[in-house]
Amino acid sequence: MSARILVVDDVPANVKLLEARLSAEYFDVMTASNGAEALAICRRAECDIILLDVMMPDMDGFEVCRRLKTDPATHHIPVVMVTALDSPADRNRGLEAGADDFLTKPVSDVVLIARVRSLTRLKMMTDELRMRAITSLEIGMQAPERSAVADTGKGGRILLVDDRQSSYERLATTLAAEHTIDVEPNPTEALFHAAEGNYDLLIVSLDLNNFDGLRLCSQARSLERTRHVPILAIADPENSTRLLRGLEIGVNDYLLRPIDKTELLARARTQIRRRRYTDHLRDNVQNSIEMAITDALTGLHNRRYMESHLATLAEQASMRGKPLALMILDIDYFKSINDNYGHDAGDDVLREFAVRVRKSIRGIDLACRYGGEEFVIVMPETDLHVAGMVAERLRRSIAGEPFAVHKGTKRIEVTISIGLTTLEQKGEAVADVLKRADTALYRAKHDGRNRVVSQAA
Ligand code: GH3
Ligand code: MG
Ligand code: MG
Repeated sequence: MSARILVVDDVPANVKLLEARLSAEYFDVMTASNGAEALAICRRAECDIILLDVMMPDMDGFEVCRRLKTDPATHHIPVVMVTALDSPADRNRGLEAGADDFLTKPVSDVVLIARVRSLTRLKMMTDELRMRAITSLEIGMQAPERSAVADTGKGGRILLVDDRQSSYERLATTLAAEHTIDVEPNPTEALFHAAEGNYDLLIVSLDLNNFDGLRLCSQARSLERTRHVPILAIADPENSTRLLRGLEIGVNDYLLRPIDKTELLARARTQIRRRRYTDHLRDNVQNSIEMAITDALTGLHNRRYMESHLATLAEQASMRGKPLALMILDIDYFKSINDNYGHDAGDDVLREFAVRVRKSIRGIDLACRYGGEEFVIVMPETDLHVAGMVAERLRRSIAGEPFAVHKGTKRIEVTISIGLTTLEQKGEAVADVLKRADTALYRAKHDGRNRVVSQAA
């Protein structure tokens, strides 16, 4: 899929020019001739990146950018401002409005394409995360967009890799006004330092002595611990072609020396804000994955996870010729706990029950809440005899110590019944194993509860 670039300019000739260049590189191009039109297109989520002219009648580019970046629906769309003159004051106004980058007219082809490509990659990655995080919104987790719009981008942790003392001292002093900053003058140490330090931003000088700063950037991109940390490159103007190469290998942004302080701060804030946003998205994705397989009350796995995982465990056991034990545990007379002490007390019992289960099993065992007060534990490489001992120990750990409910004000006796079996022949269907354990559980209930019944195949 090719990225869709929205070109916004009030002068038709300028639109045509950028459109032609981008189309030649196989980008999809949309156009708008004023700010209102551009905002509407962005709100309909029809574009991936926006190239935004600054000087426009009615609403200028700064204002369009500010509105895009303060709206949770559009704030993630990268904005490249296209300015007539390369004026630091304009650049800083744009950065304050939240712009991601600048191009100066006349726009150089190479810079244009390098910039658009790198922002496209970023946008695609963010979109993928957003898509997967949408479900987490539906189950009530906080919208990352909300906090992203409010984030100042200050208070970040920055690692500066620069071996020229006069240079890093000036940069560090400037950045220290808004962030915590560490300096690493030794480029061979920088990657370790970056991987250890949990940074929000790496700033890398490309004018290092006897060391290729780009190599460091590319290593940081491929290392798990630093893969998602944004990189801001700094270079002397004669090194500017290497910056384009940097964008190709994953550098997020750059500055040319001499460094304008305001611009340095603004670009650092932009990168840090984006880093926090994508981290937040990534956390949400991780959480929704965990929520999908976890029972919320007890923190044990849920039935769906157990059923899919059990099939895998059974296959492995069959293939390796190892035993696999499975038990179903059911709390005795749980209904009367609810009836006598209330539903909340019943919940307390379930939670505490899960805690005791976790203490009694090994890391490789799989414990899940199978239904209301019914649990399943699967134990790889465990035969019926050993599993019987584990089950008995578990039964005693429940019956032997009353359960505290109502914030510890009340203690109640709880017992469980356990039905136990093993996967006996190779390739046996897991449904049959579950059925056998259930039959054993039924017998344990029937024989008087608070007991373990084992059922060989
Ligand atoms: P038995 O010894 O035969 O297992 O009797 P029992 O009362 O434990 O079994 P029954 O299946 O009749 O009742 C189970 C009760 O568990 C009914 C249901 O209201 C309650 N229950 C199910 N899920 C929850 C829950 O999440 N919290 C609480 N507090 N109660 C629950
Ligand atoms: Mg019960
Ligand atoms: Mg029951």
